[in-house]
Amino acid sequence: MSISVRKSQQLQPVFSLTADLQNFLQCGLQYRYARNSQLPWSDSPQLWFGRFVCDCLQQAQLQVRQGLQPQPPWDSGQIEQLCDMVTARLQTEQIVCRSRTKHQNARQCVTAAINTLGAVLFPLISAGPLPVSGSRWFPAMTGSGTTRDTPFAHFFLTGTVPALLQFSATDRSLLNSPLRQALQAHGLMSDEHQTVLVDFKTAHRPDLHRRTRHAAAANADSDHWRALVLAWLLSQQAEPPTAAVVVYLRELWPSAAALRRLREACFRRTPDVLLPNPDSPDAALLNASHHGQQLTPLSSEYRLHRAFRIIPVTQAAMQAAMQTTDHTADRIRTCQNQEIRSGRILSAWERNNHSQVTCAACRARTWCPGFHGK
Ligand code: SF4
Repeated sequence: MSISVRKSQQLQPVFSLTADLQNFLQCGLQYRYARNSQLPWSDSPQLWFGRFVCDCLQQAQLQVRQGLQPQPPWDSGQIEQLCDMVTARLQTEQIVCRSRTKHQNARQCVTAAINTLGAVLFPLISAGPLPVSGSRWFPAMTGSGTTRDTPFAHFFLTGTVPALLQFSATDRSLLNSPLRQALQAHGLMSDEHQTVLVDFKTAHRPDLHRRTRHAAAANADSDHWRALVLAWLLSQQAEPPTAAVVVYLRELWPSAAALRRLREACFRRTPDVLLPNPDSPDAALLNASHHGQQLTPLSSEYRLHRAFRIIPVTQAAMQAAMQTTDHTADRIRTCQNQEIRSGRILSAWERNNHSQVTCAACRARTWCPGFHGK
């Protein structure tokens, strides 16, 4: 008697917004090596910096919500303790930084993030980090009977909303808050109870006005797209937020290079960059540093103002962002299938990277044909 072999059950593809889609958009081939072959993503100190600052902020937020620590500002001892704990955790994941200067910068950024930003945001946070998920169709499957090389019609998308704020215009903790001013400037403050999604980025605020054609093709404004995808994922299990706030944490402790760029933007009066009022002390400080003087920190109001980027959430904007998401998931599947068919990795995966910085820190650069001539 012959017994038939049970077919192996194929699971629906699951894509993580950060680990899959965002990394694929950065470079398809790098994503392939890191995700499937488990090659470490990169040896860049930026990876450590990003993880360190975000993890410290998240831990601080959790400790405040659990009542283990008071609302910020915290003293240096409390912040040092938190930083040491996060450093030790990252070490267990082999994410280390050997540069003392980077360590110092990161701790200053964490101090600014907790004491300047935390004082504004922590009292308003109602939930987070919040896992969210939703189901999507692969693009071509919505057509009538299109044939394709994947047995699956749809995929699951997962993500994590770092924090959710809940408040209304009458909320006392919002009085004179830079967040209220930023939302008001976009006409997004109302007397009714509203939910706002917060996403943190360990980067400086991008100057979209200056972005190159290459960067535009590489979806340089991925922060906008990511915030809208998170809003859509949240809308699958709760009321959609009225707005998303992307917080650029590096703006709370800007680097010397960022201040130089800001000075140049002041000079050019770039339309995209949030410039200080020409008569304000911040504008005077930026001009003073131009003449080689030591720069004292910009005012915390102005730094917060630059850190908050408001993205209005509408159905149309979410649908547009989800179209990019569906196409990206489809591109990953196509590359996977090409690899299975051809048995070759290098020719099967897209090398869609346009950034020399990404290539220079990539672990695959020694054998990647895309690295030469960059
Ligand atoms: S070296 Fe550059 S093109 Fe090649 S895999 Fe790495 S990031 Fe992609």
